[in-house]
Amino acid sequence: MIINLVVPCYNEEAVLPETARQLAAAIDGMAERGIVSDRSGIYFVDDGSRDRTWDLIAALQAARPARFHGIKLSRNCGHQAALLAGLRHAPGDALISIDADLQDDVGVIPSMVEEFRLGHDIVYGVRQGRRSDSAFKRSSATAYYRLLRWLGVEVVLDHADFRLMSRRALDALGKYQEVNIFLRALVPLLGFKATSVYYDRSARLAGVSKYPLGRMLGLAVNGITSFSMRPLRLIAYAGFTMSMVSFLIGIWALFVVSFTSRGVPGWASIVVPIAFVGGLQLVSLGVIGEYIGKIYMEVKRRPLFEIEEIR
Ligand code: UDP
Ligand code: MG
Repeated sequence: MIINLVVPCYNEEAVLPETARQLAAAIDGMAERGIVSDRSGIYFVDDGSRDRTWDLIAALQAARPARFHGIKLSRNCGHQAALLAGLRHAPGDALISIDADLQDDVGVIPSMVEEFRLGHDIVYGVRQGRRSDSAFKRSSATAYYRLLRWLGVEVVLDHADFRLMSRRALDALGKYQEVNIFLRALVPLLGFKATSVYYDRSARLAGVSKYPLGRMLGLAVNGITSFSMRPLRLIAYAGFTMSMVSFLIGIWALFVVSFTSRGVPGWASIVVPIAFVGGLQLVSLGVIGEYIGKIYMEVKRRPLFEIEEIR
């Protein structure tokens, strides 16, 4: 059983030697105990780093060609794209994606492999504690996951990109040709038998986060717009609400003009059309949004189904 690790690296020269040492030790240990084949290894994906990352990867590869492999992207394509490049190009019966900064616990890799042996196609690494993250990151992450769920996007709570995927899950993933990728939500869409292993997320071993706030927001927006049509529907709902309100305002205006002496000349004829036209515009936008949403889903050409077994 060949299990390869996929490690996206962007300017990670500060942690890479230690990461390589620990990951190789994990594979060595499992290979010695006969859990995985000795041909298992580590695929570093250099995401267009500007520091010595690629030199380090090349040196590792030269030192232990059977254990270390390198994939170099031509430019910085982003974490998700780098991850996908590794998942598409690394061979093996299963792949485990893990960050280069060792925030994810190398120690649970054997449990992931064990779950795979027990027949799970996808094993999610789920953070038990987020003590190492700042309060802001913790609360914003929780709020974001809630929002995603409310919008109908299925994600595993407190799971990022530390996961094992079997060859057939990877093949299924290969059929998704969309370019706005948010793997966290894409993987649950695949189906198959899945389970989770739990770990404590530690602090970054060295170096600084490669996810500044802007990038994180970009990823967050991507997670919503790539998977949910609900924001478009909300426009339609707002339109219907506005229409109802304008109708009520109209009745009220008529009542004021006809039965009281408080009617101001010209008021109703200004306010009612404004509310009415506003509602009409929002409804129209909602209808157009509905069609755009359909077009969006069609152009993604996502597979409609994936056969797990035929008897
Ligand atoms: N990463 C990457 N390309 C990028 C940004 C990040 O390949 O453009 C990698 C990075 O090297 C690390 C992983 O993605 O292995 C997660 O990044 P980081 O640890 O900086 O994110 P954080 O844990 O702070 O959210
Ligand atoms: Mg990190």
